[in-house]
Amino acid sequence: MASFSLHGIPVSRGIAIGRAHLLKPAALDVKHYLVAEEQVEAEVKRLSDAIVKVHQELQTIWKDLPADAPSELGAFIDVHALILSDPIVSEQPLEIIRNRHYNAEWALLTQIDELSAQFDEIEDAYLRERKNDILQVGERILKVLTGSASQLPRKSHVDGDEVAAHMIVVAHDISPADMLQFRDRAFVGFVTDLGGQNSHTAIVARSLDIPAAVGMANASSLISQDDWVIIDGDAGVVIVDPAPVVLAQYRESQNQLLRERKKLGKLKKTPAITMDGTLIHLLANIELPEDCSGALDAGAVGVGLFRSEFLFMGRTGHANKLPSEDEQFESYRKAVIAMKGRPVTIRTLDVGADKPLAKAEETALNPALGLRAIRYCLAEPQMFLTQLRAILRASAFGPIHLLIPMLSHAFEIDQSLMLIEQAKAQLRDAKKKYDTDIKIGAMIEIPAAALTLPLFIKRLDFLSIGTNDLIQYTLAIDRVDHEVAHLYNPLHPAILQLLATTIATGAKAGIPVAVCGEVAGDTKLTRLLLGMGLREFSMHPAQLLAVKQEILGSDLAEIEPLTKKILRAYEPVVIAEAMERLRAL
Ligand code: PEP
Ligand code: MG
Repeated sequence: MASFSLHGIPVSRGIAIGRAHLLKPAALDVKHYLVAEEQVEAEVKRLSDAIVKVHQELQTIWKDLPADAPSELGAFIDVHALILSDPIVSEQPLEIIRNRHYNAEWALLTQIDELSAQFDEIEDAYLRERKNDILQVGERILKVLTGSASQLPRKSHVDGDEVAAHMIVVAHDISPADMLQFRDRAFVGFVTDLGGQNSHTAIVARSLDIPAAVGMANASSLISQDDWVIIDGDAGVVIVDPAPVVLAQYRESQNQLLRERKKLGKLKKTPAITMDGTLIHLLANIELPEDCSGALDAGAVGVGLFRSEFLFMGRTGHANKLPSEDEQFESYRKAVIAMKGRPVTIRTLDVGADKPLAKAEETALNPALGLRAIRYCLAEPQMFLTQLRAILRASAFGPIHLLIPMLSHAFEIDQSLMLIEQAKAQLRDAKKKYDTDIKIGAMIEIPAAALTLPLFIKRLDFLSIGTNDLIQYTLAIDRVDHEVAHLYNPLHPAILQLLATTIATGAKAGIPVAVCGEVAGDTKLTRLLLGMGLREFSMHPAQLLAVKQEILGSDLAEIEPLTKKILRAYEPVVIAEAMERLRAL
């Protein structure tokens, strides 16, 4: 096949070279044919064997679920097992083979199509949603039938296996929960048709430190299983079946990157100090306590953002949907102990939008503007109190800062603080220890918050700017939607104003301000943020040393005047030109 390239959105840096592993809906591969009378029973057996195999698969998934897997995954498996046992799925298609002589795949699809059409008629939105479960069960059976049940192997199973260790996942879409599940799977990069640069799937990919490109339109139908694929994660380009000379060039670039990384590794213990002697704090963003070792390896001076919702998402095989207070406490304590006295900023649950807690929530019409993050927590005070108690208890074991996402109204801050006081009182009653002086801060990620900072400064100890959402909400672009990804621009003057004002206002009031959105890890923006007065950056560990290198070569006295010029500008060309000069200093 001739080589071709695809252009999408770069989400995770580096170059990956490997063979395509398609996570493709099996229904696309289905062949339709009629079987001869004497083969009917053999075809019936083929389908019933596949159904038995899927039962076994589900049981194995149950058994293999990690202890910390989110409970809702367990619920999914239960529902799928129930559907699989229902005669409408396990027997009806066998009858279709017997009566119409369809091959097994065709018979199964016919029945699944029929069922899903019936579900479309149902008025109840929740029940209508169950259609997806039926489709997924059908998909599982089809994968067994068509032999395409190629699950990604676990890392531990591929040691020394060159092919398995160099797989590139190609999919239409991958949810953040699935991405999280892929953590212990062996693959070197991924490409998806959908997705935006700062979707949580992309963020998890960055934390896994594997090259990735998303928003590739129809990559998953253009790329075939086992095609050679190069991902240029910096450019957002995917090259399929490259010519040998192109492959050689990319291998050389890959080696070059490895050498650069090795060199950066030497900066691990170097303090992040600008040329004029200003100390900058570089912290890590983590999703799970296990990420702390990577944070320390990169030389992070603390955790600036622990996205606690990842403890709640995709929990399979747990009797309870939500992690209990003790389970959460153990996770938070693990993180704080792992960081050995360095501060750990734990953000309270930020579910909703592209991180739904339950399947049913996916039906919200406009989830990014819905019951997300603190809004969800204030609507579920018992759940919130459980998390607050767990965080507070962990604060007895090391410095914890408590960070609240998506605040925009004064009453939300007040209610959150009241609930924190209530959680403290409950712990005192139970004679459990916590840090009585725990610092409490807010994410500044809604424009309304950035425009009403005095409300926050009066009530809280620190601020952390979430640029991912601040950009999404200010520019009215869904961060997950690749169709509008080109509008996602941190250099829009409106964003620059909100950032600069928040940093300056915090400094004037004497309260710490960090940036924990993805711009903090973007070396192209490091000097601009320094020039605005930012002294605390929190990012994925993989980006930390490159940002440090940028800081070591920066002189605030040179940067500040140019930054002022950028902040006065409105015209994109003027901003772009000044940014060039800033980077060339
Ligand atoms: C942000 O919005 O910038 C942020 C750090 O939070 P999240 O990406 O988890 O929404
Ligand atoms: Mg956010």
